[in-house]
Formats: sequence, structure tokens, C-alpha cells
Amino acid sequence: VLVYDQVRKLYGDFVALQGVSLQVHKGEVMCLIGPSGSGKSTLLRCTNALETIDGGQVLVDGVPLPKRESEVRQVRRRMGMVFQSFELFPHKSALDNVAMGPITVLGMREDEARKRAQALLEKVGLGSKAGNFPANLSGGQQQRVAIARALAMEPEVMLFDEPTSALDPETVGEVLSVMQKLAQEGMTMIVVTHEMGFARRVADWVVVFESGAIIEQGPPSQIFDNPTVERTRDFLGHLG
Ligand code: ATP
Ligand code: MG
Repeated sequence: VLVYDQVRKLYGDFVALQGVSLQVHKGEVMCLIGPSGSGKSTLLRCTNALETIDGGQVLVDGVPLPKRESEVRQVRRRMGMVFQSFELFPHKSALDNVAMGPITVLGMREDEARKRAQALLEKVGLGSKAGNFPANLSGGQQQRVAIARALAMEPEVMLFDEPTSALDPETVGEVLSVMQKLAQEGMTMIVVTHEMGFARRVADWVVVFESGAIIEQGPPSQIFDNPTVERTRDFLGHLG
């Protein structure tokens, strides 16, 4: 579904991505790992055109990402994004957070959108919390609402940028297991994460970034048990 062909991204003179080439196939889970500042978030943001690229191209189903804002919105709608900070609407209930996109963007009828929102909250284990406002949910619960909200738009790809980094350790697992379930259902996913256990269990493909470039990629067994690149070993070693 997604092809990155020699993607370059500059911030002023700074090269954030120096010609990244990658492919993500339908139903595949790709984990991006690597040190802080290596370009992982930048690649995600270039995927749904939150950033424009300065060279190369990103192809979605063979079609380059458009430049015009109206067309960009069409493409972005096919990609769900989940951030480190949950970014729920604080003055809306969990249910309304999930139902809102389909109503306002897809033009779905309110009763229909709410019914589907309730089903999605059940899917992420929050059926009984539909009426709660974000402030009355734990971090892990808020992040699961954010996942349900992204799923409500029926995306073809889900992009996760360190979805558990801001969570208390005790709620990390509940979010990872929702993500694992999604993966098992065949969702195409790109996941930036420091959760190496998750990457090992769930990823089909692991990509190691450093300084805006891919230094190594392969199946989890290769990356974690048998990295061929010394700097991959150093990076994983630092994580302890
Ligand atoms: P982290 O693990 O800390 O989230 P990352 O791998 O996601 O790191 P990016 O956020 O992609 O890294 O940033 C890559 C580089 O680009 C960093 O050196 C960062 O400082 C720089 N950068 C990111 N966004 C901007 C921006 N808007 N303007 C200038 N520089 C930026
Ligand atoms: Mg980042």
C-alpha cells in the first residue's frame, strides 16, 4: 500500500530524512525504532502529508501524495494517526470523541455514528466508559479512546507515534494489547515505538533509523537476535 522512494526531508539546512526507501504491504505491521531525533516521527508525518517532502516520493497504492490541500485531506482520511499525547477533545465524552469524525467529516447520521462509536469503544474494552470525559479516564483509557476515534474513520492504515510513551507503566499493556489485536485482524500499521517486546511479538518488519537514514531493516528475529549492523546492536544495547 505504501512506498517510500528516496524520501528527503529538510528543516532549513538540516537533513531530517536523507533519502529513505521503504515499502509497507497491506496487512503488514512495521515498527520504526532508533534514537531520539533520528527521523521516525518525521517519516510518519510525511506519510499523511502533515509535512511536505523535499525529494523523492511517497506513493499510496501507486499514487504519489498530492500537494493540493483538498486532495491531501482525502488521502489523510484513509490514514488513522495516534500520537503520544492523546489529543482527545476535553469537553466531549469518550463516545462523542469517537462519533464526531464520522458525523462531521463523513456525514454519517448521528444515531448511526453513535452506535458505531459504542461498538468501537467495546472493541477497545471501554464499553462502560462511553459517557466519561477524558479527564475522568486514565492515560491508557484515553489512548484507547484515541485509537477507537481513529478507527471510526475506517482507515486503511494506522500510524502510531510512540503511543505508550506518555503512559504510566501499568497502563502500557492495555494499549499494546489493543494494538496487537488490531494487527491480528489484519490492519496495516506503522508503529514508532520504544517497546521492543511489542516490536518483537507483533512486527512483521522492523526498521532501524539513525540520523535520518535506515541503518538496518528486517524481521524482528534478525534485528533483535542477530543484528548485522554494529550501531543497531549499540542502540538496542543502550535500551538494556
Ligand atoms: P524522538 O524519538 O525523540 O521522537 P524522532 O526520531 O521522532 O525522535 P523527529 O521528530 O523525526 O525524530 O526529528 C528528526 C530531526 O528533525 C530532529 O533532529 C529534530 O530536531 C528535527 N526536527 C523535527 N521537526 C522539526 C521542525 N519542525 N523544525 C526543525 N527541525 C525539526
Ligand atoms: Mg518522534
